[in-house]
Amino acid sequence: MTNTEPVLCYVALGSNLGDSDKHIMDGLQALANHSDIDFINTSLLYQSKPHGPQDQPDYINAAVEFKTTLTPENLLDELQKIENKNGRVREGVERWGARTLDLDLLFYGDETINTKRLIVPHPRICERAFVLYPLRDLLSVTTAEQTKEDQEDLKINDKSTLSNCIAKLSEKDKSEIKEYSHHG
Ligand code: ATP
Ligand code: CA
Ligand code: CA
Ligand code: CA
Repeated sequence: MTNTEPVLCYVALGSNLGDSDKHIMDGLQALANHSDIDFINTSLLYQSKPHGPQDQPDYINAAVEFKTTLTPENLLDELQKIENKNGRVREGVERWGARTLDLDLLFYGDETINTKRLIVPHPRICERAFVLYPLRDLLSVTTAEQTKEDQEDLKINDKSTLSNCIAKLSEKDKSEIKEYSHHG
């Protein structure tokens, strides 16, 4: 099922298992190639320390911006298919444990969704540098109609904007993420 009007969406990508570079690139390409997804922009890549269990490799992270006619539920299905193709294992793994590819729907237009399968906006954006930094890259691309102030006021939830979430990150949070250059 599809909507008629394309909706502006943001998705976060993460990988810390197997060939993480390749999984991130494959995820980006799968989204760009999807016939119901009109790809707009991709962030820089970042390398970040794991949250949750600490005995796992560093993550590679990115975020993307696109328009889609897919409904939220169908978009989640497509995201999970891309994870599965990249060898994502769901059974018997610990919460926030290592994974080959993770695709989280951050925003679906300005919709608020709260179902068994889907919570949007994603509830843990504000405390995650590995989501905030890529989002900031995407939003700093200012179009003619938008002023920089509009962009920086991106609403994350009822209480927070992108810029005040970034301002609230601790020194430790900020020390645990850096830009990553792709090595083939
Ligand atoms: P976190 O949500 O804290 O980043 P996670 O990405 O490790 O944790 P997963 O194991 O990948 O969590 O996903 C568990 C379930 O979360 C999925 O099966 C999906 O139904 C649900 N879910 C709820 N909201 C979202 C969302 N906005 N994007 C992706 N999955 C979501
Ligand atoms: Ca496409
Ligand atoms: Ca996640
Ligand atoms: Ca996820």
